[in-house]
Amino acid sequence: MIDEDPSDEDLDRFAGEIGYCPDCGEEVWDEAYQCPHCESVIEGRIGHAPVDRAASLLSAKTVIVLVGLIVIILVLMQIR
Ligand SMILES: [Zn+2]
Repeated sequence: MIDEDPSDEDLDRFAGEIGYCPDCGEEVWDEAYQCPHCESVIEGRIGHAPVDRAASLLSAKTVIVLVGLIVIILVLMQIR
């Protein structure tokens, strides 16, 4: 490995081998051993499609639904 500022060649190489961290969904080099964003070891688990984005969207929806349920329960408890 060459420890220099990223040259155009490096940027092209990086752009050609982009992957997505299976844990945090951030873009990573697809041959990276460790995710630079969440620091989990991702070697061999890197996906090439941003599937985690859909998963996090789903969990955000789940959180909204749960918060809505809690609010409804609180309102019902106050009525009683
Ligand atoms: Zn990560």
